[in-house]
Amino acid sequence: MSGMETDSGIASFSLGEEQRQVQELVRRVANERVAHRAAEIDRSAEYPQDMFDLLRELGLFTLPFPPEYGGSGSLLSSCVAIEELGRVCYNTAYLLLVQWTPIGALLAGGSEEQKRRLLPGLANGTLRAGFSLTEPQSGSDVSGIRTRARREGNEYRIDGGKIWCTNAAVSDFFLVAARTGEDGTRGVINFFIIERDRPGFTIGRKEDKLGARGVPSSALFFDNVHVPAENMLGREGAGFKVVMQALNASRPLIAARAVGLAQGAMDLAISFIRDRRAFGQPVADFQGVRWMIADMAIAVDAGRQLTYRAAAMADAGITGTEMARAAAVAKCFTTDAAMKVATDAVQLFGAAGISNEVPINRYFRDAKVLQIIEGTNQIQRNIIARNILGPEGRPA
Ligand SMILES: Cc1cc2nc3c(=O)[nH]c(=O)nc-3n(C[C@H](O)[C@H](O)[C@H](O)COP(=O)(O)OP(=O)(O)OC[C@H]3O[C@@H](n4cnc5c(N)ncnc54)[C@H](O)[C@@H]3O)c2cc1C
Repeated sequence: MSGMETDSGIASFSLGEEQRQVQELVRRVANERVAHRAAEIDRSAEYPQDMFDLLRELGLFTLPFPPEYGGSGSLLSSCVAIEELGRVCYNTAYLLLVQWTPIGALLAGGSEEQKRRLLPGLANGTLRAGFSLTEPQSGSDVSGIRTRARREGNEYRIDGGKIWCTNAAVSDFFLVAARTGEDGTRGVINFFIIERDRPGFTIGRKEDKLGARGVPSSALFFDNVHVPAENMLGREGAGFKVVMQALNASRPLIAARAVGLAQGAMDLAISFIRDRRAFGQPVADFQGVRWMIADMAIAVDAGRQLTYRAAAMADAGITGTEMARAAAVAKCFTTDAAMKVATDAVQLFGAAGISNEVPINRYFRDAKVLQIIEGTNQIQRNIIARNILGPEGRPA
């Protein structure tokens, strides 16, 4: 990556040699070895172990990990890989994303011992993890978490429950947010590393989902679960900051998945309207349809630029509110754009767009998920507005 830095981050950038190599490799693999599996993974809603093995064999999991943990440390390369897989199979792209979701929290809050214990295994695919914040009464509002961690000697005792933990079915360990102090304040939340086999820890049934069906999400239950005190991430009370840093790191990856999805939906729509005829001419020759394709291309191009910019900023070491805003802008724009592009693509397919025999409705269902996960798009708008206007209720 080469970037031109300004006061407000990185204004322009281009893909470097490493990113171009990743793009070429992953595009070829996506077309030759992934695309044919996409419909079946979605239909069966079964975890695609074969796709996980393929990504591991190719060494793709290593991409965002710092060199000392076996990776190349490039979020931009990681975004390029996700985008290419996301063009053909949302769920296979998701396998990269869930493998990478814990990195931000571990790097931001983990001790050297925790990083050495967990990061190399995530990078080489011998470990898998779940990242668990959401509870039945608290999704967007992280301060509403009720799962509790009580200090007992050299251990913490965890009690409570979580929902929507993606990857739970195959995870070796979980980063679980729990409250170490009183209800309702942010400063008393911490992350704990909870290994799958801890007594008292059970994983509930998987959700039957509209989209993102191949990577299951499940409830988690903690009943008198004991973990050593050194399984807490960071110092006591640092959890909220760790959450925010983790999400800043992963939002450009969600944006990349949205760009890939939108590009894939547009590609399918273009190929359909070139073949399909109405009123004696190809559907692609109607001006109203041509403008829909032009609008799709505008959305994909703009979204790609915002995504690469956010990733390049993270790679340049930019943090704090500047990074939070760029990540939120990229996540919000690209996922709204993916929803619009996928909706219009279904429209261009006519009735075929509604048929489960035709792949386009998968893009439409998966796009909806992207507007909700990793902070809904209303929450992204709150982050952006707060960055511009300051906190709500501030005296004029
Ligand atoms: C497929 C999938 C996978 C997931 N994987 C995980 C996972 O691995 N780990 C995990 O912890 N969670 C996961 N989640 C949960 C996800 O992070 C939450 O669903 C999300 O944060 C929203 O929380 P909620 O569903 O409780 O909605 P709520 O917070 O109840 O929000 C309901 C509505 O109110 C809006 N709203 C809330 N607050 C505001 C506000 N201040 N301003 C404006 N509007 C607001 C929201 O945008 C939304 O439209 C997953 C969800 C899905 C669908």
